[in-house]
Amino acid sequence: MTEQKLQKFICTNCGYVYDPANGDVMSHVPPGTAFEHLPEGWVCPVCYVTTDQFDPVD
Ligand SMILES: [Zn+2]
Repeated sequence: MTEQKLQKFICTNCGYVYDPANGDVMSHVPPGTAFEHLPEGWVCPVCYVTTDQFDPVD
């Protein structure tokens, strides 16, 4: 049984990790939201950089 795991992303500026399983409650992003499906204008909730400052986490 293979379940596709949602990719986590880390903020290269502050180290915050976006975990799709948790979403981002602070920004009203529901759990299960993939990083690439984050709403336009979403920024790091800690340091407010844009998504191009994020790298995938292994
Ligand atoms: Zn950050």
